[in-house]
Amino acid sequence: MKTIDINGIKIGGGNPPVIIAGPCAVEDEEILMKTARDVRDAGAVMLRGGAWKPRTMPGKFEGLHEKALEMLSKAREKYNLPIVTEVMSTDKIDVISKHADVLQVGTRNMQNFDLLDRLGRIDKPVILKRGMSATIDEFLGAAERIIKGGNDEVILCLRGVRTFDHSQRYPADLYSIPDLLSKTDLPIIFDPSHAAGKRDLVESLCRMAIAGGVHGLIIETSCEPDSAQCDAKQMITPDILARIVEFSSKFQEIF
Ligand code: PEP
Ligand code: MN
Repeated sequence: MKTIDINGIKIGGGNPPVIIAGPCAVEDEEILMKTARDVRDAGAVMLRGGAWKPRTMPGKFEGLHEKALEMLSKAREKYNLPIVTEVMSTDKIDVISKHADVLQVGTRNMQNFDLLDRLGRIDKPVILKRGMSATIDEFLGAAERIIKGGNDEVILCLRGVRTFDHSQRYPADLYSIPDLLSKTDLPIIFDPSHAAGKRDLVESLCRMAIAGGVHGLIIETSCEPDSAQCDAKQMITPDILARIVEFSSKFQEIF
């Protein structure tokens, strides 16, 4: 099993589950700083936050771009939390790499081959999210492209897939956790937020994913979720995050 070290935080192998939390998008400096403090106090060890947001409909809030990266950097310095943020195109890799510790490829770009090839040439870990309609072989093929390019620090992220069932936003692909564990050495994390689409389901999905053996969770969290322009309904508050951190660490003692 591969272990990836992100500024001393070890993800994968037999290491305890790593909890990454933060808002969907970086929208406001004060809220970001407060959220960074609160998620750190709740036990998260990395901060997420989108600077460039993929939006299905044009005209919606698409992120604060470079300004968001600067805010993330401030939060990183103040709270000692490595930063995870999404990269959507090859021309943004350099600017994002100046600020982020881990670059995330979103579900919509899992088969953006140019992007994958370029990410194979950077020296930072990549979180690769499963395409919402991608098979496991296609997902592993995308990871292989980054690795073949020379970057073997790839973290696979399950985030739910598209089905006929609208009771969840993207029904959770939990079976894929043990399936991937049997097929790859790469660390596997789970994003309950985009799978659930609603806050009330997030904690239970985390329990199931942790029981399934994931190496980490990436959870949309904000100290003021209701005012968010992006994914407000699925963002949890830091008090719920603290419970998730607690049972995630206890789990290791049980199994
Ligand atoms: C996100 O993590 O903010 C995001 C847009 O996720 P996904 O690509 O899984 O929809
Ligand atoms: Mn989101």
